[in-house]
Amino acid sequence: MRPPSCSSHALVHIIPSVSVLETTAKRIELLGLTQDELREFLVALDEKAFRARQLHDAIHRRRITSFDEMTDLPKTLRRILSDRAVVTNTRIESMFLSTDGTRRFLLQLVDGSEVESVFMPQEHRHTICISSQVGCPLACGFCMTGVIGLKRNMTASEIVSQVVIVLNAVYGQGVEIPHRTNIVMMGMGEPLLNYDQVIKSVRLLADDGGLAIPRRRMTLSTAGIVPRIYDLANEKVRPRLAISLTAPNDEIRDRLFPINRKYPLSELMEACRRYPLGEREQLTFEYVMLDGVNDQDGHARELIRLLSGIRAKVNLIPHNPAPELPFLSSPMKRILAFQQILKEAGVHSFIRRPQGQDISAACGQLAARHQATA
Ligand code: SAH
Repeated sequence: MRPPSCSSHALVHIIPSVSVLETTAKRIELLGLTQDELREFLVALDEKAFRARQLHDAIHRRRITSFDEMTDLPKTLRRILSDRAVVTNTRIESMFLSTDGTRRFLLQLVDGSEVESVFMPQEHRHTICISSQVGCPLACGFCMTGVIGLKRNMTASEIVSQVVIVLNAVYGQGVEIPHRTNIVMMGMGEPLLNYDQVIKSVRLLADDGGLAIPRRRMTLSTAGIVPRIYDLANEKVRPRLAISLTAPNDEIRDRLFPINRKYPLSELMEACRRYPLGEREQLTFEYVMLDGVNDQDGHARELIRLLSGIRAKVNLIPHNPAPELPFLSSPMKRILAFQQILKEAGVHSFIRRPQGQDISAACGQLAARHQATA
């Protein structure tokens, strides 16, 4: 490996929108750059601006991760690129395959941090669940990621790299993505606490000339960072929104979500009411079923009142237990009774079948366990 040259440091100033983190490996990660930023980067290297389109196509549409394979670029340019840049530093550390086809990817980032992404094949669609932070600061009482705390935010490049790496591992590099591939930001981290990088990654994923994932196929899930929900409402390219609700009143939510003391339910639900929805769009409310905590008939009735006036669907998620977490899942009979009450009130709900439980890939189990014990 060549030692980093001084001029690669200068790139930080030439492209101010590129975060310092993306250059800590001294070679800039190109996967987080838009086509315009790629152009600036190439021009700074005295290269022709039109190469940006080729480079963008190779990286984002064909998902090529090594410059050697970009055979439509001149050899000299490929050599310059490998000296100054990488497509991504993210690499697969291990992959776990569940009996139901779910695959959990433990990924290593440039600084050795680990994050997890999950590929879930379903009958009518495939879903990739990606992380937005290394760890999470929110410490929700029923979530494993909360147990490890926040290590750092991920860069847009790192967020997008999960999608590229999982797609390449599952379908093969460059192979067209099946039409119904969904991206959910429901892995490690609170996406709205890493707002700018998350929004940038949504734009990169949605880019027509790149991965071209329609915005309606991307869902961002939040524990309820209210001011950022208002910001999200104003974005041009915005994913669908899911709220991790899991409690029908402040008393229960305060206990489960420390963030609820800062942004209580009245404020959260007001932000949801004001959230602009497309024609056939709904807000999703995720409700983790915790035995004896939030699963009684009265709680279902409170939930119905809370959601009144909101175009919503509810995902009832059986709790995935872990030795570190003090909760059990509600029994299926209770979940069905809870669902019945919602149904009678006209509230749409689905019971989420847990996937990948045997490989610790189910909701709330992502903790990159190496790291938890490091
Ligand atoms: N911070 C974001 C995204 C990460 S959590 C958020 O809070 O939404 C993603 C989803 O996993 C949320 O719906 C959350 O409620 C769910 N979840 C967390 N821990 C869980 C557990 N132990 N069992 C089942 N679902 C869990």
